[in-house]
Amino acid sequence: MSRNQQLFDRAQLTIPGGVNSPVRAFKSVGGTPRFIDRADGPYMWDADGKQYIDYIQSWGPMILGHGDKDVIEAVQKAATRGFSFGAPTEGEIELAELICELIPSIEQVRLVSSGTEATMSAIRLARGFTGRSLLVKFEGCYHGHSDSLLVKAGSGLLTFGQTSSAGVPEDIAKHTLVLPFNDIEALETVFAEKGNEIAAVIIEPFAGNMNLIAPGQAYHQRLRELCTNAGSVLIFDEVMTGFRVGLTGVQGRYGITPDLTTLGKVIGGGMPVGAFGGRKDIMAHIAPLGGVYQAGTLSGNPLAVTAGLVTLNKIRQPGFYDTLTARAARLAAGFQAEAVKAGVPCTAQSMGSMFGVYFTPTIPQNFAEVTKSDIARFNAFFHAMLDEGVYLAPSAYEAGFVSIVHDDAIIDETIAAAGRAFSKV
Ligand SMILES: *Cc1c(COP(=O)(O)O)cnc(C)c1O
Repeated sequence: MSRNQQLFDRAQLTIPGGVNSPVRAFKSVGGTPRFIDRADGPYMWDADGKQYIDYIQSWGPMILGHGDKDVIEAVQKAATRGFSFGAPTEGEIELAELICELIPSIEQVRLVSSGTEATMSAIRLARGFTGRSLLVKFEGCYHGHSDSLLVKAGSGLLTFGQTSSAGVPEDIAKHTLVLPFNDIEALETVFAEKGNEIAAVIIEPFAGNMNLIAPGQAYHQRLRELCTNAGSVLIFDEVMTGFRVGLTGVQGRYGITPDLTTLGKVIGGGMPVGAFGGRKDIMAHIAPLGGVYQAGTLSGNPLAVTAGLVTLNKIRQPGFYDTLTARAARLAAGFQAEAVKAGVPCTAQSMGSMFGVYFTPTIPQNFAEVTKSDIARFNAFFHAMLDEGVYLAPSAYEAGFVSIVHDDAIIDETIAAAGRAFSKV
């Protein structure tokens, strides 16, 4: 039996499903999850010693690749000065200043320890600030696992959402409306009917949790206008896209100013950091200044903040994103060309350092379109790629990521592997 299988069997005795986050269990693709032993640069090695080129990147954070020497050195140094104090540190100011400098819509920011905490807190803040309850989210967008967000669409545009997880009371779901993503008409209808009840709209400006779906600028401009007119707080959830589609997120790319932004993933450089921030007048409602309570024992943890600071200081260097973006574009074009060669109806695109590979005839524009993916074919492709030593996300509904150490040779090696894998599916 493989060591991966042995570990998986053992894990299931003490950990529900053998994993600490569900997608790791390979449930949708089948087979045995790979237990990772170590990683370096663009590579990871599993418990059986097999090497993979890593395109999950810990679901986004590892933008410098694994084991960046500067990050390791800084974290080691920070560790010798203490792991956590429950009192403020200078590093937290530096990270806050850097985030505010890089993302101009963020005038003030609060650090937390995960993306889930960031979105949950931003929503509470928006509700406290507006004195309203209603939250609008979109089909296929993921914002972490807090109660108000584990809600799926009701039977009609204006009917309240239904819980998408056991354990979430209907009374909570009824404060969330779920709209189709990338649909201007649906936005206009809901704002016309309920605008003055809407506390906040939360959106992944490019969705990265239903594969990669990128609305155009016009959609976001209209959303901004509707929120402004209704006095609703616009929350851009850039936990994934922040520092991934570019140094200034989707908001910078499109010139949209959200009221609040949530961040995570890259800002911790692989350690647990999340953040929410935005307009100073809104942030003034957070405790200890205002009446919206929010706190965290390990918030702004000095080791995590150090990893984030060094990461952000490296990715802001001139030319970083030009290189990174070109690599992802090369990869997506390669996937697309190999699919055509093999006669597999599969498309691909990239946005900054994120990419999507879709087992659909055209690039999907919303949740309904992406869920028409040929899942059986994706799963076969996923396993063929694993055999080739390429680690893609174990789901047809996840985006992929490249890091700065995925050089052209590694990208071309991946494309060649994809060619062989496509010919088998
Ligand atoms: C990953 C993610 C989250 C949740 O972050 P966690 O750190 O996993 O809690 C929230 N929003 C988006 C857009 C994400 O991609």
